[in-house]
Amino acid sequence: MLPESLKPLEELALNLSWYWNGPTKELFRAMDPSLWESTGHDPRKMLSQIDAGRLQSLAKDTRFTRQVEYAQRDLHDYLTMDRWYQKYSADVEDAPERIAYFSAEFGVSEVLPQYSGGLGILAGDHLKAASDSGVPIIGVGLLYRHGYFRQSLDAQGWQQERYPLLAPLDLPLTLLRDADGEAVTVEVPLRQETYRARIWIAQVGRVPLLMLDSVVEGNSDAALSVTDRLYGGGVEHRLAQEVLLGIGGVRALREYCRITGEPTPTVYHANEGHAGFLGLERIREYMNDGIDFPTAVEYTRAGSLFTTHTPVPAGIDRFPRDMVVDQFRNFAPLPLDQIMAFGTEDYVGGDHGVFNMAVLGFRLGQRANGVSQLHGEVSREMFQGLWRSFDVSEVPIGSVTNGVHHKTWIHSGLLELLETPTGDSETVIDGYDWSALDRVDDNTIWSLKQRMRGELVNMARERLAASIRNRGLSGNSEWVEHALDPNILTFGFARRAASYKRLTLMLRDPERLKKLLNDPQRPIQIVIAGKAHPADNIGKGLIQEMVRFADAADVRERLVFLPDYDMSMARPLYPGCDVWINNPLRPQEACGTSGMKAAMNGAANLSVRDGWWDEWYDPKFGWEIPSMENIANADQRDAQEAAALYDIIENEIVPRFYERDGNGLPTKWIQMIRDITSGLTPKILASRMVREYTETMYVPTAKASAKIAQGRTAADTAAWKQRIRAAWPQVSVSRVEGLEQSAMSLGTALEINALVNLGELTPDDVDVQMVVGEVDDDDELHSIRTITATAGEVVDGARRYRATIELDRPGSVGVTCRVVPRHDQLSNIAEMGLAALSTD
Ligand SMILES: *Cc1c(COP(=O)(O)O)cnc(C)c1O
Repeated sequence: MLPESLKPLEELALNLSWYWNGPTKELFRAMDPSLWESTGHDPRKMLSQIDAGRLQSLAKDTRFTRQVEYAQRDLHDYLTMDRWYQKYSADVEDAPERIAYFSAEFGVSEVLPQYSGGLGILAGDHLKAASDSGVPIIGVGLLYRHGYFRQSLDAQGWQQERYPLLAPLDLPLTLLRDADGEAVTVEVPLRQETYRARIWIAQVGRVPLLMLDSVVEGNSDAALSVTDRLYGGGVEHRLAQEVLLGIGGVRALREYCRITGEPTPTVYHANEGHAGFLGLERIREYMNDGIDFPTAVEYTRAGSLFTTHTPVPAGIDRFPRDMVVDQFRNFAPLPLDQIMAFGTEDYVGGDHGVFNMAVLGFRLGQRANGVSQLHGEVSREMFQGLWRSFDVSEVPIGSVTNGVHHKTWIHSGLLELLETPTGDSETVIDGYDWSALDRVDDNTIWSLKQRMRGELVNMARERLAASIRNRGLSGNSEWVEHALDPNILTFGFARRAASYKRLTLMLRDPERLKKLLNDPQRPIQIVIAGKAHPADNIGKGLIQEMVRFADAADVRERLVFLPDYDMSMARPLYPGCDVWINNPLRPQEACGTSGMKAAMNGAANLSVRDGWWDEWYDPKFGWEIPSMENIANADQRDAQEAAALYDIIENEIVPRFYERDGNGLPTKWIQMIRDITSGLTPKILASRMVREYTETMYVPTAKASAKIAQGRTAADTAAWKQRIRAAWPQVSVSRVEGLEQSAMSLGTALEINALVNLGELTPDDVDVQMVVGEVDDDDELHSIRTITATAGEVVDGARRYRATIELDRPGSVGVTCRVVPRHDQLSNIAEMGLAALSTD
């Protein structure tokens, strides 16, 4: 029990906003600095273990208790005052009151280890930035009893996995209880049985995160194990988890809103395909209210958006169809064949034996996006099969580029330099002046950088020493005390050991790397970390190769592999680096966020132009490793890209870093730190991402949701779609006239005439469009634009349409005439995937 004057510490420790609130964190640390370290910076653990005498003296220390009061007031202000969204939404009709955000993993803080890598950390940053911006999100996820595994190494450098048990009561969670204090549970289907799940709430600033837990008395063994581990077990286990997340998640939301009186969300955001089943549960809810299936689908689609995260077909969640049938056999009143149709790959090259969660996401979400511009492009190509009658550029998948939460990821010393008392200049965003370093002298910036590097070196030596002991290699470990040097040019490379990320590319020419590491005048050092998925022996092999290289006596002080990469390692790692390396096989990195976190701390990126770096690369912010995508031979491609990597380090990075002025300062390098902070950081903020989601996705989704809820709109839309689909086989373009003019010079106006058979449809049901584009060597149209034709008279049962096309650029022009469905409720012309094209 805490003394009265320290009581607010309980609330402060329970809301995870302490994690990105510097002063509050400092308050906890100051209570008992050594306990703070030994409890892994976990305030709740620290409060439960702190010495009673120490508490008594702190309770009487008025300076301390005033700081506690202040921190509590600060939290209450943060939770209640108007923020960006409150101002923004005041002028927006149908702005969402609540948005549900579903994700299989959330990386909010290392004290709640419920993430494996980038996807989870992104979801955590999304919630934090939403909280900072006042965007009313509710997170929905699972509480894994063992989280993701902890990594260590054996003597040979092979990855070892441990799964420590997490007790929910030791975590910053509260159980959702009803008015009688009873824990609330929801029912969840698991094949032919039904089990119960409880709902834990993590408070992420203003954002509640609901986490479902299948460990409830009375559940079968199969049910109890559903939430055992993140990404552990086989396909069947994964399906059970996704059913809990999607179906159970919606039910948990309903309970949460019922008990708290919060408004029901009007927007449902599925972060990656894992949460796709949420759409099925929402259809079920509508049907239970007496709404027919097609109408329920319209309601659900209008309020849903889907974010895809992988540009690699193999990265997409797919289940054997039989398994899904078995799971949803009794999901009344939804028709089983319709459920199965949502996940069917019924396109060229599709596999009819699987149920595809991304396809489900696209079919049940009216809006969809990738996570960088390049990834948007790749996704449009990858999923064009779902909209095969349309040009790739028309595939309705947009993009919102990821961002990272500055208060979580920027070193406190750097944040202090950016803090601004006025907040009225143009370069101030979210309370920090990103151009502030322009007014900070070289010396101050460089001393801070040295400090950051020093902190990384200390952290690395501690972890190395522990790892050496753990591997049983402690016989000879004095070298660890000299490992790394706070004055040497420092490179970082840390991320999951997925093969496309090419952890070992830098080992391609080991002698060349050693020369760079051991240069007597201008050496470099590299800090490496990353976990391989427990079932990924190839990834483990790459880690072993790296560890063995790092174990060699002539390398070990300059290149280190630190086991157990997680947020607690990541936070000091990024600021300590001067250069962040990323060498994925382009374009397989959807966005990537580690480079953003490094850049936020003034580190340059040395990266293949994939994901976000393709969009925001600038020589002022770092270097581009050329991508040799045109080389089909993987080995040759690696060789060339690796050679470029060494060249850039040797010829550009090393000279710039070690070029010093009379005061020993690398002025060009310091200028690069300024340029990155003022030019790049404002773009890569998670708050920018969340605002972009709000403006381009959440608000349009909420509007569509409100519109479809009016009168009979949903039922009419559903009926109209059915009528269109039924009549579509009779729709055709029978003749196009006016294309024969051969001399099509610039400025010519082409009068085009088309005869269109509408079958049972009327001109109100469709648009007839002339698609104009440049013809390439394969006879395909590119850079297309569309001109809508005007309906004219009926000739021999067909309707005449006319359009005039102004030729505005030279070159070979092609025109296709097409008929597409037209309706108010369609968010874009490709939505139904239907188009009847002229054949010539
Ligand atoms: C940011 C981060 C990642 C993601 O790194 P990418 O290079 O974007 O894949 C993974 N793990 C941790 C701990 C991180 O902080």
